[in-house]
Amino acid sequence: MAFEDQKLHIFFFPFLAQGHMLPTVDLARLFAARGVKATIVTTPHNLPIISRTIGQPKTTSHNIIINTLTIRFPSLQFGLPEGCENADSIPSPSLAPNFFRAIQLLQEPLEQLLLHHHPDCLIANPFFPWATDSAAKFGIPRIVFNAAGSFTLCAMEHTRLYKPYKNVLSDSEPVVIPNLPGEIKMTKMEVPGSMANENDENRAWAKLHAAMSEAELKSFGVIVNSFCELEQVYADHYKKVLGRKAWNVGPVSLSGRDMKEKANRGREASIDEQECLRWLHSKQPNSVLYISFGSMTNFPKSQLKEIAMGLEASGQYFIWVVRSQKEDEEEEEEEWLPEGFEKRMEGKGLIIRGWAPQVLILDHEAVGGFVTHCGWNSTLEGVSAGVPMVTWPTGKDQFYNQKFVTEVLGIGVAVGVEGDSVEKEAIEKAVRRIMEGEEAVEMRNRAKKFAKMAKEAVEEGDHKDKSPGNSDNNIDKVTKKFPRPDCLIADFSFPWATSS
Ligand code: UDP
Repeated sequence: MAFEDQKLHIFFFPFLAQGHMLPTVDLARLFAARGVKATIVTTPHNLPIISRTIGQPKTTSHNIIINTLTIRFPSLQFGLPEGCENADSIPSPSLAPNFFRAIQLLQEPLEQLLLHHHPDCLIANPFFPWATDSAAKFGIPRIVFNAAGSFTLCAMEHTRLYKPYKNVLSDSEPVVIPNLPGEIKMTKMEVPGSMANENDENRAWAKLHAAMSEAELKSFGVIVNSFCELEQVYADHYKKVLGRKAWNVGPVSLSGRDMKEKANRGREASIDEQECLRWLHSKQPNSVLYISFGSMTNFPKSQLKEIAMGLEASGQYFIWVVRSQKEDEEEEEEEWLPEGFEKRMEGKGLIIRGWAPQVLILDHEAVGGFVTHCGWNSTLEGVSAGVPMVTWPTGKDQFYNQKFVTEVLGIGVAVGVEGDSVEKEAIEKAVRRIMEGEEAVEMRNRAKKFAKMAKEAVEEGDHKDKSPGNSDNNIDKVTKKFPRPDCLIADFSFPWATSS
């Protein structure tokens, strides 16, 4: 038997969106660095993103080798444009349910791959609740990889279970999330529709969330992209009260990438990384604000204009990432900038149209603040970089992450999203609060402490004097759960029962 065949083989199956694919590649790297054979399953149009994020074997630190396999995505069958295989390219929100329906058809082709490659374990995204049963069919354990933090996992599950918004009429009345440590209050407007109101559309989401929760409980366990020291109370709550077997292994974005690898994470960057670094090198430590709303948020032009005016009024240096909405209509795209903006901002502000090397930028010492939509990856990347944040959530789990950053960690200021738009005065005010004055210094000091803790959590031990960080240790723990010979689990339908 060849050496390759004796290795523990793990299949990774991320949801088709950057916010899930990128941390999954990071996670696969962590396992591969321990000698695990890692295979990521994706669809043809997502393969270039995955491959670029993995990197070339010869340029990858630790000589990590990660394999990929593809399965066909039925875009056309569900009225999606040809090649629309990633949540960031769904042309309009009304087509999102079609995308989710198409996703459910991936079960059969995934099972074909499990049959042919017989891996020892399947690590799959929570949006594939059926993956637990798929793994069970082949007698292997399924682990859920949840690209969310423990606080938000607990808060969302409590909202789903206790339905505190059921009889609340007002959208803006703060309501305590029952039985969650910390007296956390959220308004109806801040929680996902399926947890706030019952209607036909929301019922389908609610059903999916219920299935996800059930699959999580039935699975071998949950890998969480966060570190215990950041949110110990909620990491414990998730296990002890919500009954999940869980390992916090993050921040996975700190998975030992060199500069080039950081620049290659995700889509091809719309700026040369050297140009970006030169620009940052020319600025003082903590003097630059980084503004990005992740891979999916699209603002109308009027909102982009307000942001431009707010930034200018704040007087800060900035790097602002604007997602290109219509790649072939550049002229129209420029309309959102106030007249003469770019000329006035020369040397002061850098606009990146498209995709930015986010982790590379955030990790630069010149960056001193982050305006974020609070996607969990961005939030944790901000924590890892030790920068205070202006929180500007737009939906999904992002309002929960905002609560966590502003109230639990105390390292952020909410921009104050209430209606459809945020005005320039509010933007300027929030930006100044995280970049200037005593409050900013206090938040930055706190943020730096969390960043230090994050780095310690992922630190490798040396098997002698230096013990590994908690997150690093947790990856080892998961790996050791599956020594090869024990992988054939007797009970065909309940593999987790044998192993737990
Ligand atoms: N990202 C990036 N460049 C961009 C936009 C996003 O590298 O221009 C990365 C970012 O570092 C993060 C991920 O894409 O790892 C986005 O995930 P997040 O959960 O923050 O937000 P989502 O895109 O899922 O809303």
